[in-house]
Amino acid sequence: ESARIDAFDSHEQIFLGEDPSRGLKAIVAIHNTRLGPALGGTRIWPHETFDAALTDVLRLSRGMTLKAAISGLPFGGGKALIVADARTAKTPELLDAYAEMLLALKDRFWTAEDVGMTLADADYLRARTPNVSGTSSGGGGNPSPITAEGVFLGLKAAVEHRHGSEDLTGLKVAVQGLGAVGWALCERLHAAGAALIVADIDADRAGEATSEFGARKCAADAIHAADADIFAPCALGGMLNGNSIPELKAGIIAGSANNQLAREEDAVLLKESGILYAPDYVINSGGLINVAAELEPGGYEAEAAFARLRHIPETLADIFHRAEATGMTTNEVAEALALERIAAAS
Ligand code: NAD
Repeated sequence: ESARIDAFDSHEQIFLGEDPSRGLKAIVAIHNTRLGPALGGTRIWPHETFDAALTDVLRLSRGMTLKAAISGLPFGGGKALIVADARTAKTPELLDAYAEMLLALKDRFWTAEDVGMTLADADYLRARTPNVSGTSSGGGGNPSPITAEGVFLGLKAAVEHRHGSEDLTGLKVAVQGLGAVGWALCERLHAAGAALIVADIDADRAGEATSEFGARKCAADAIHAADADIFAPCALGGMLNGNSIPELKAGIIAGSANNQLAREEDAVLLKESGILYAPDYVINSGGLINVAAELEPGGYEAEAAFARLRHIPETLADIFHRAEATGMTTNEVAEALALERIAAAS
């Protein structure tokens, strides 16, 4: 078993793209294509070292393989990272250079939005290379609202499992990160009667949530420890670690961020602390489901994407029950289910 997982951990291919004159420094990681061509977003983030960038993209692309498998999609896992500050360095020249890199990989890698890449960027790239989804012309558009819808459904499945009812009225939810997904999740939680505690490193964003949702603001470095029933991490990864887990007060973790666990062992720490963890690549799979729907031979159909989205709470309920029955962590159960699907297709 461990040999199988070790083999699963190695990547099939890693491509580096560098064009100093146009500011491009990019990594495309193709993890596993047994279920189909690699599909994964492009993150634009100013990592300080090459090692940090490589670690980020490799962990993300592995997660994409698991995400596609557990969602029953005919795609493999891949991810791209452009090392740049999206607010200051995302020029048309940089995107042109990246589009050329994508075009060279058009038979192996499909991409879409991730942190730092907008719908307008996806449309810009799609005009230059065919292997881009999450676009206006493809019909699926920005995947973030559908990701938030999937997280909302998954969060309710976790509440149902823990409290015997999915009613969110009066429950306190601490939301970390008020970007495209975090904000759309807050809209749904607020409409469902939850009380929100929010944090973002962008103070304006947190201020807007206060007026829009009556949310209570919290410092970004303390939101994980807020007095809440549910913690919804919707910023970047690694926030669940040996330092933060002992400080958590929430009994449920259900959020959109990729790679929430700093290390696999942190899932054990969560279990031992009695915290119900919704594995990230299961609960946040709505975006992938939507961009994959855009690549269907018959074109994008919203109803088909929503039908698949409605499996997220069912899959999570199954994972929660199996974890309880076996004593495994929810993460181990999710990974075993995803690996089973990959093995069955091989
Ligand atoms: P985004 O860039 O729109 O938003 C991220 C937000 O988090 C920003 O407002 C940023 O200021 C804030 N932030 C960053 N670090 C923070 C910190 N330490 N504390 C508090 N706030 C912080 O990104 P997004 O598209 O909303 O994605 C959020 C997360 O969900 C990412 O991990 C992403 O990989 C994951 N995800 C997104 C999608 C999607 O469809 N957009 C799909 C699956 C997973």
